[in-house]
Amino acid sequence: MDINTFVTENEVAIRLSFFFGMFFIMALWEILAPRRALTVSKILRWTNNLALVFLNSFILRLLFPAAAVGMAVFASEQGWGLFNYYQLPFAVAVILSVIIMDGMIYLQHVMVHAIPALWRLHRVHHADPDFDVTTGARFHPLEIILSMLIKFAVIAVLGPPVVAVIIFEVLLNATAMFNHSNVRLNRNVDKVLRLFVVTPDMHRVHHSVEEDEANSNYGFNLPWWDRLFGTYKAQPRGGHEGMVIGIYDYNKPEQVGWLHKMLVLPFIGQINDYTINRRYHIDRHNEE
Ligand SMILES: [Zn+2]
Ligand SMILES: [Zn+2]
Repeated sequence: MDINTFVTENEVAIRLSFFFGMFFIMALWEILAPRRALTVSKILRWTNNLALVFLNSFILRLLFPAAAVGMAVFASEQGWGLFNYYQLPFAVAVILSVIIMDGMIYLQHVMVHAIPALWRLHRVHHADPDFDVTTGARFHPLEIILSMLIKFAVIAVLGPPVVAVIIFEVLLNATAMFNHSNVRLNRNVDKVLRLFVVTPDMHRVHHSVEEDEANSNYGFNLPWWDRLFGTYKAQPRGGHEGMVIGIYDYNKPEQVGWLHKMLVLPFIGQINDYTINRRYHIDRHNEE
């Protein structure tokens, strides 16, 4: 059996075991060495965040049973995309595909912040009043569907090897749980790690209520895009313990904690804050 057949036949098992394995490790790490004290009941957040995760998995399976991997298989059968057209050494095609797909996720993330209607969807991710391993999978179903459609388009154009798509999906899943986790990492270790991967301290800046900080550190996997495109911010102004997580005006558990509130959040309220170019700090305390 070649590797393509093996990974496509065992895709769900591979992804689930990585998901639960990583989830367990990060959840345990958060208990043993937490970075910040949580502000909201963990039971409320976890049950509702995880309920959203299950709802999203169900919707995705229903709408796109073959998912991104199926699209990659289809593209290769049709000879679609760059890497199906130009034959590169397998390893080179895999590595380039993973890096390019990660760059696309970065651009997509910038886009959902930049376009007001999409920011409405993406707000659900940011409205989590705390930041831990479950935040990493907390996305509105419509954003999940949008992500999948963008991924299909990228795969059709890129024609990545099937294995690259699986590596990318598993990697993105694992790093999203890692970089959203509420874990304490030695400052020096963090410094070295964030040369290669987005660390929790790096991504936490992006979950700040402050506009200039929320409009920074869009990377999910590789930290290079933010440095390359000028959206990198090393640390939050208020420090990791002092910074406020979430979005202004929608940060009370009764507003954003329950599943049904998350589902309707995109459709309520005005969207005139967090505009993309607001990368400077407004001192709200001294405004009046
Ligand atoms: Zn974001
Ligand atoms: Zn995030």
